[in-house]
Amino acid sequence: MRRDGFPTILLVALAIVGFSAVVWLNARPDQPASIIVIPTMFVPTEDPNSWQTVLSVGFGSNSTPLPTVAIPTASFVPPTLLSSSDTNLTPIAPLQLTTIAQTLPNGVVTPTPLAGTLVSQATGIPVTEQVVTRPPSQWRPPPLIPPISRDPYGRDHFVFARPVDSNATNAALLSYTFGSDGPQQESPWRVHHGIDMPNPIGQTVRAAGVGTIIWAGPGFQDSPSYGNVVQIQHDFGYNGEPLYTLYAHLSAVLVTQGQRINLGDPIGLVGNTGRVSGPHVHFEVRVGENRYRDTYNPLLWMVPYVGHGVIAGRVIGPTGQGLQDQTVTVMDYNTGLVVQSTTTYIYLDNGSDVNGDPQWKENFVLGDIPVGRYTVITNIDGQRVNRRVDVSEGMTTFVDLTLTEPTPTASPTDA
Ligand SMILES: [Zn+2]
Repeated sequence: MRRDGFPTILLVALAIVGFSAVVWLNARPDQPASIIVIPTMFVPTEDPNSWQTVLSVGFGSNSTPLPTVAIPTASFVPPTLLSSSDTNLTPIAPLQLTTIAQTLPNGVVTPTPLAGTLVSQATGIPVTEQVVTRPPSQWRPPPLIPPISRDPYGRDHFVFARPVDSNATNAALLSYTFGSDGPQQESPWRVHHGIDMPNPIGQTVRAAGVGTIIWAGPGFQDSPSYGNVVQIQHDFGYNGEPLYTLYAHLSAVLVTQGQRINLGDPIGLVGNTGRVSGPHVHFEVRVGENRYRDTYNPLLWMVPYVGHGVIAGRVIGPTGQGLQDQTVTVMDYNTGLVVQSTTTYIYLDNGSDVNGDPQWKENFVLGDIPVGRYTVITNIDGQRVNRRVDVSEGMTTFVDLTLTEPTPTASPTDA
């Protein structure tokens, strides 16, 4: 035991010295030292509401004073925007499509009698135009700015503004579209030569383009149906032909004949004069001559809304003839929801028919379709016909609905 005493003491002493050296080295501050400064400007205070004081210290005495903001007690409710998929939309029911097909003129056409049974409560005059009022508060995006022709072949001619302000109803009434005879098969109305925009009496009606007032008042072309009318002959034409717009059923006329007028100028107020069942503006586009028979679908002349386009087309029967009063439905390609429907133009061959567009030669138009992909559907000879279309902003998408196009490709398995 004793013989081992000294080395043991020596080892213990060395261990103590080594441990102390390690402790001392770790306790030394690094050279050079990185100095960590504890901020002193953001001194927490005991008053939890004194954030103004803390911030004023932080921004300095020359900083802009912070505004005092009233914090609302009610939670914010974002506005609900109208979309194509949340109003009056129902899944498509193919059986609802009409199977009635009439042929266009060139043959015998039975004239449709005028409706005379309805009488306007406001005017006591028999009604030929019925209006289902839509709330004018219904939100709509602003229209594009005319003139627009974005079609790569220059076929579009959206040269007119909408005649009613964006915050009013400046969409065409869908129950009485251009070229149709109204919703009731039994008591058809006069074939519509314009589009109707139902609005409260007094809503401002505006010039669709620059031009000269050529009519201002009642008695337009010896017809009592129109009520108070303003008509403009525009400074610009189309393919060398003059262009006219007409605004009917006004409660007040704000211009005089011969007056120069600019796009957007107030020209009258919405009313219910003439043969109507409710206040609206009847908007017509005439090309060439200023006659009832020279009217064309305003939806192909009036700018669409921002983010919207137009679908135009033809429903054509097996022998190549256009089919009249045929229901055409537009369905959202992705959701399968019906977006809009219309009917093909009716021709009575009585010398005062409506016209297909000089460019498009269509027999139906669906206006203000949101940009997107759709299926256009009709029924020809009892067969459902679908075509897929893509709608672009400010453009017309044209589609022919026939039984034979596109030509079906026989598969190899077909024997
Ligand atoms: Zn009308």
